[in-house]
Amino acid sequence: MADPRVVIVGAGMSGLCMAVKLLDAGVRDLVLYEKAPSLGGTWRDNTYPGLTCDVPSRFYQYSFALNPGWTHRYSPGPEIRDYLERVADARGVRRHIVFGTEVTAAEHSGGRWRVTTTRGTDEADFLISATGVLHHPRHPDIPGLDTFAGPAFHSARWDHGARLEGRRVAVVGTGSTGVQITTALAGRASRLLLFQRTAQWVFPVGNHRYTDLTRRAHRRLPVLDRLFYRLHETLLSALLARALVAPGRRRDLIDRICRRHLETVADPELRRRLTPPDRPMCKRLIGSRGFYEAVQRDDVDVVTAPIDHVEPRGVVTADGVLHEIDVLVLATGFDAHAYLRPIRLTAPGGRTLEDAWRDGPRAYRTVALPGFPNFFMLMGPHSPIGNYSLIAIAEAQADYVCGWVRRYRAGLCRSVAPTQEATDRYNRALRDALPRTVWTSGCRSWYLGKDGLPELWPWTPRSHARMLAVPHLEEFTEVDALAPERG
Ligand code: NAP
Repeated sequence: MADPRVVIVGAGMSGLCMAVKLLDAGVRDLVLYEKAPSLGGTWRDNTYPGLTCDVPSRFYQYSFALNPGWTHRYSPGPEIRDYLERVADARGVRRHIVFGTEVTAAEHSGGRWRVTTTRGTDEADFLISATGVLHHPRHPDIPGLDTFAGPAFHSARWDHGARLEGRRVAVVGTGSTGVQITTALAGRASRLLLFQRTAQWVFPVGNHRYTDLTRRAHRRLPVLDRLFYRLHETLLSALLARALVAPGRRRDLIDRICRRHLETVADPELRRRLTPPDRPMCKRLIGSRGFYEAVQRDDVDVVTAPIDHVEPRGVVTADGVLHEIDVLVLATGFDAHAYLRPIRLTAPGGRTLEDAWRDGPRAYRTVALPGFPNFFMLMGPHSPIGNYSLIAIAEAQADYVCGWVRRYRAGLCRSVAPTQEATDRYNRALRDALPRTVWTSGCRSWYLGKDGLPELWPWTPRSHARMLAVPHLEEFTEVDALAPERG
């Protein structure tokens, strides 16, 4: 039985998940390269005030490490980060992580992946990307941004040295992040200006604290954790996930709830400005009960005039108004199409990832790429990342990858990749299903790729898990068999 060396790129939520599953499967020659000095990915990078997961805590956790101690129905960010740290320690992952080391390139030659990092080189039989989806902050191209006299920073690079109490704070962006920051800072800042380019729908969800009694009950009766995990999975799958991918009652219900919630904004003019141009769920649905209350405060303004430029004293809008501020927060999102990059990935025969993805990121069943042997992705293209637990998705993908590692160890495969034909067939089915999704209803969203088509999974997350539960061995080929095709 050959024991493969496995390299995982990234020690965030999905990298840890992959490592636990591989260790459980008996793989010992395992390394996770993490460019940062600590683990946690998005939950390490984001530390902004109000950071809360928008998926219920009972479901946003590993099914193999259920945590009875969650303090809230929706977990605060630092709690999730602590949880990931604990899982890494408890499951023996930490000693496999090499921190402060970025993978810059990987080339498959001589039957193995030659991996280049900022600290040297390595070799691997399997290369697994767990680099996350929303990772590279998107810095807006606003003229004069660097001339601002006060602290100015992206939401994912929060400047904790910047004083906020009693200061005039501007937040640019009204995605989930901008909404959470605005809700948290209203009343703390002397004046809060929310610069909104496009309004987004907000679904009313409150966040309550679990009582000590509840937490004790969950500690004593682990079956409760399992029960609530399944319950939340079922609710999210049955309501929200189906509403995204199929027209009908569920989608209409979510529409109605969002519209009613907007009605709680008393001033018709403010309500008009907060009315989005597209349907709920075109972008990831924002969950908040406090946001509309926050923007109706006297010390909070929603500015909808486009930003023209920034000058040392503040933000100047296209109507010529200078909005004087002390702190500038850019909640302007992430480059969602930078999957894996800037890593330079080269398949046997010299084909690069850039070649493969010239027309946009396309994968085999979200996890693999034709021509790239023993290379797998977590959260790869078209993963079901809309309003669902990404942890559950990572688990399904990690289990799938483990299947191939097991087959390798059993001597049943050596250097496998999906065929181009199977990949094309899968992508055709995917495209055929897209018109039923809400994202083709006239949305403007980073969910859409260069070709204007959604880059998301057009079926339910459960169907994604079901698909990955079957290995589809006949759709894979040993890479040597591919060589003549590449010529
Ligand atoms: P986002 O959803 O991409 O929102 C970015 C916002 O910035 C949008 O309102 C966008 O306006 C605006 N913007 C971008 N460039 C701008 C410019 N040059 N001038 C003015 N406005 C500009 O980013 P996000 O809020 O950081 O959220 C990213 C993802 O993470 C989302 O899927 C979100 O749901 C998710 N998230 C999840 C959680 C969680 O709890 N799991 C928490 C936070 C975020 P336009 O709409 O006009 O482009």
